[in-house]
Amino acid sequence: MPTFAATATHDPAVTGLFVVALIVVTFGYAVACWLWPFTACRRCHGTGKRRALFGGPAFGLCRRCDGTGRRLRPGRRVINYLRTTRGRDTNR
Ligand SMILES: [Zn+2]
Repeated sequence: MPTFAATATHDPAVTGLFVVALIVVTFGYAVACWLWPFTACRRCHGTGKRRALFGGPAFGLCRRCDGTGRRLRPGRRVINYLRTTRGRDTNR
């Protein structure tokens, strides 16, 4: 049984399990962002319309999502950012 030099009091097996779980969750989120890059706009709830004040009929387009009702997920933004910085010459 090897002795660990780490001064941490918790079990290394638990730490390893936590790291694996973190990787799985991060990977799962990355895959979800890759498959479904958009999420419903929180401002207009995916309708793309701007809600009129005082309960009148909707007019105008939601300014936050430009009337699409979709918003790019933060995770997808990270993927896009990594893509533009890393694969600059493979994108063409
Ligand atoms: Zn919107």
